[in-house]
Amino acid sequence: MSPSVIRINTALPGTPRARVMIVYTGGTFGMVRDGSGVLIPLDFGSILEHLPALRQLQLELSVVAFDEPIDSSNIEPHHWREMADIVQQHYRDQDGFVILHGTDTMAYTASALSFMLEGLAKPVIFTGAQLPISEPRSDARENLITALEIAAAKGREGARVPEVCIYFGSELLRGNRAKKAESQHFDAFQSENYPPLAKAGVKIDYLDSAIHRPGPDAKLHVRSTFDSRVGVLRIFPGINPLWVRSVTETPDLKGLILETYGSGNATTARWFLDAVRNLVSRGVIVLNVSQCPGGMVIQGKYETSRELADMGVIGGGDMTLEAAVTKMMLLLGEYGPGETRTRIGVSMAGELTHVTVT
Ligand code: ASP
Repeated sequence: MSPSVIRINTALPGTPRARVMIVYTGGTFGMVRDGSGVLIPLDFGSILEHLPALRQLQLELSVVAFDEPIDSSNIEPHHWREMADIVQQHYRDQDGFVILHGTDTMAYTASALSFMLEGLAKPVIFTGAQLPISEPRSDARENLITALEIAAAKGREGARVPEVCIYFGSELLRGNRAKKAESQHFDAFQSENYPPLAKAGVKIDYLDSAIHRPGPDAKLHVRSTFDSRVGVLRIFPGINPLWVRSVTETPDLKGLILETYGSGNATTARWFLDAVRNLVSRGVIVLNVSQCPGGMVIQGKYETSRELADMGVIGGGDMTLEAAVTKMMLLLGEYGPGETRTRIGVSMAGELTHVTVT
C-alpha cells in the first residue's frame, strides 16, 4: 500500500462540507487505455481529469491507492487487513470512506470489513464499475459520485449511513447482505434478504429504519486475524461420496460451510450423514447455509435437515455464503473453535435476520 495520500479539495475557495477518503484497490473501475489501446490501471492522482464533476461536490477528498492495483479475484485476507488499517488510521480525520474494488469479490471484502470494523460509526462504501472509467458509457462515474455523496451524508445523529455498504447501479446495500448476481448489466449486486438502505434517483432516498446505528459511545475496534482453514461444500443430486469424503477428511480443517438446498435440506444418504457427523465429532464447525439467494435455513423443518441439527450442524439462517465464509474465518482466527461455535449463528453486523443457533 502506498503511504502517500493525495489531497484534492474540490470546495476551494470555499470550505468543504465533508472529508472523504477514496481507497483505490483495483478492478475494472480504474482501467484506462494506454497509447496502444491496452487497458492499464489509472494513476489516481489524475482522477479529476476523468471526473471533472467531482469539483461540484464541495468535498475534501483524500486518495490512497494500493501500490499495485489488483483484480479482485486476487484478493486475500491480508488485503482486507490493509483496507481496515487505512480506515483505522484515518478514522478521526475523515467523515467517510469510499473503497473502489473489483466487483468479483466485493461482497466478500465488504462482508469481511463489516465484521472487522466493530463499533463503526462512519460510512465505508464499496463501489466499482462494470465498464472502465475510460469508456464513454462507463457506470464508474455515477457509482463513484453517488458513493461519495452517501459517504459524506450527515443526519441528525452523525453519519447518515454508519455501515459497511456496497453502492452499485443505483442501490445502496448492506455489505454483508450483498451478492454479485450479474456480470453484464450495471445492477451487479442483489440483497434478497435485506432491503436496500438507499435508492438513488433524482435524489437519494434513505430507508432510515433499515440502517444500523451504533450506540453514542461506540468506539472503533478492529479485528484482523483470519484463519482460512475453512471449506465450502456445495451439494448436488448425484454428488460422489469420494468427493465428499475428500473434503470432510481434509487434515486440519477447522470449519466447513455446507451449501444445502432450500431451507437447509440435504440428502439423508447414510454415507453423507456419517461423513458430516465424523467432521462434527472431530470438533470442526459445520455451518448450514442455503443455495437459495432468498429465504433462510430452518433446520428441522423437513426430515432432510433434522439429523444435521441433531448432530450439531449450526443453522446459518439467512446469511449469504460470502458473509458465512468471512465470518467463520474471522471468528476462528480471533476466538478459536469454542467461541466460533457460540457466535457464528448470532448476528455480528446485521448479516442475519434471526438468531438461528440450533
Ligand atoms: N475482474 C474484475 C475484478 O473483480 C471485475 C470488476 O472489476 O468488475 O477485479
